[in-house]
Amino acid sequence: MINNKDHFLLFTTCVPVKGHESSLIMDLDKGEYLEIPNELYDILVADHFTYDIGGIKGLFNNEFDRGIDQYFQFLVDNHYGFYTSNPSPFQKLPMHFDSPHKIISSVVAINKESKYDVRKVFQQLDKLDCQLLQIRIYDNIEMSRIINALKVLKKSSIRIIELYVPAFLNLSDEVLKNIIVDFSRVSITVYGAQESKKDNLVEGSSRIIRYTDQKLLNNSKEVYSTDLFIVSHEMFLEAVNYNSGLYRKVCIDYKGNIKNYLSHETVYGNIEGDLIAEIIQKEEFKEKYYLKNDLIEKCKDCQFRYMCLSNSEIEKKGENYHKLDTCNYNPYKNAWE
Ligand code: SF4
Repeated sequence: MINNKDHFLLFTTCVPVKGHESSLIMDLDKGEYLEIPNELYDILVADHFTYDIGGIKGLFNNEFDRGIDQYFQFLVDNHYGFYTSNPSPFQKLPMHFDSPHKIISSVVAINKESKYDVRKVFQQLDKLDCQLLQIRIYDNIEMSRIINALKVLKKSSIRIIELYVPAFLNLSDEVLKNIIVDFSRVSITVYGAQESKKDNLVEGSSRIIRYTDQKLLNNSKEVYSTDLFIVSHEMFLEAVNYNSGLYRKVCIDYKGNIKNYLSHETVYGNIEGDLIAEIIQKEEFKEKYYLKNDLIEKCKDCQFRYMCLSNSEIEKKGENYHKLDTCNYNPYKNAWE
């Protein structure tokens, strides 16, 4: 039996997010979300620290008393919230996000036309404390060029190095195995393979080579799907404050051009004549960092906006921002079209 004198609180890491037609609760600890109606969102964001359950019901003119009881009990039963007679010790989630890394992630593209010095790019990214480096190989290039360049990262602080190689390179198991044995932070994905699978080439090790039948092209478009949403503390806080796809990201295209993302048209410099450290200080380069989903048309009305990772170019039309590569989710109909 629900006691109207108790307070109902969501767990601090269960965050309600409102969309135009539907809402959800992101469970940042479990990495899950629960879809809820907008009416429940409005109830959940009322001041539960000041008002007990009876008070909350009063705020809604006691029109939904039975529904509110049922909603709260459902959320308690499913570990999204709890009842308490004393809410004061419980805190709201701090919304601040910062990163000590000047660059959090980078994508470096290489094809047979690429003339730039890959080693110098890696060295510069390492100096900028880059955490995630993705290397995309598009053509039939000499792997020794990449392997030699990777050597400069042997003692780097880069946490994850993802190497994407095309299946048509026909790299032998031996070559692939040597790369992951020699470079402990490198993971390899072979794209354009006949089938998607994972191979454990190194006996007794959890390190695998991933094969995917998906293609990766120079001009690959953004892919949006609920499967690709990321529910996590870091992603949520980054997306509340910044553009989570572009914040502290720098990309080098196959010509050595320095960009916010590979598919963007805007070029801020070239690795042959410019230093990444100087380019990322430019206000025009950093502008995209701050264009978070809350400021972008359609996305600002979408309940998935703090879990949707998008690298899309953003354009300003009049006073409004729009993504150039948008998704097929329609938040005004709550439907994927
Ligand atoms: S691109 Fe925008 S509208 Fe589409 S799912 Fe992501 S946040 Fe929602």
